[in-house]
Amino acid sequence: MHPLTTCSMTPTVEYIQARFDEYNTAYFNGQLPPLPIKLSHAKGFLGKVTFTRRKQGLFSGYQNENFVLRINARIDLPETLIEDTILHEMIHYYIAVNQWHDTSTHGQLFRREMARLNASGRHITISHRLTDEQRAQAIIHKVRAVAIVHFADGKTGVKVVPNQPQHIRRWQQMAMRRFPIRSIEWIESDDDFYAKFPSSMAMRIYLLTDPNSVV
Ligand SMILES: [Zn+2]
Repeated sequence: MHPLTTCSMTPTVEYIQARFDEYNTAYFNGQLPPLPIKLSHAKGFLGKVTFTRRKQGLFSGYQNENFVLRINARIDLPETLIEDTILHEMIHYYIAVNQWHDTSTHGQLFRREMARLNASGRHITISHRLTDEQRAQAIIHKVRAVAIVHFADGKTGVKVVPNQPQHIRRWQQMAMRRFPIRSIEWIESDDDFYAKFPSSMAMRIYLLTDPNSVV
């Protein structure tokens, strides 16, 4: 069965943590230390393990530390692909945390570990990106720039603005001049709740207490 026939989902930190713990026991003898897990909304990659390399001393080598695991939550993906992405990143982590040096990013060590896991039924590849077929099936989550507007009279409103720094700055300047505003809080969100608010530069703020009323 092709993995893409399974249903799609967007991972949460809790989901990734549960898979990490499960795979750590199943494939790495529980040897991987816990590390921070974060969601990414970047376009370019499915997963990533980042770390810093600290020089140990004058005559010794580098120490890899400050590991962070990032998994993409911008798009809905088949669950098997998310699982295999987590495993792909866990192989990178396994190599780096053991301070091993591979022949390249996906070198001999990486391929040896990948073959070991794929022999037990996984479908890990060396790619960090979606294939064209996967991209066509993925649902891209739009990350919106949302202004939560706190008015001087205590009311709260919402406005979605095109997600570019110059638009956000400009809209904020105009709104502060036009309305009695105490503060504006900006959030980036892919929550469908904000899909019903038009994304524009219009000076229309939707009151949260009554979404049909506009100031
Ligand atoms: Zn990789």
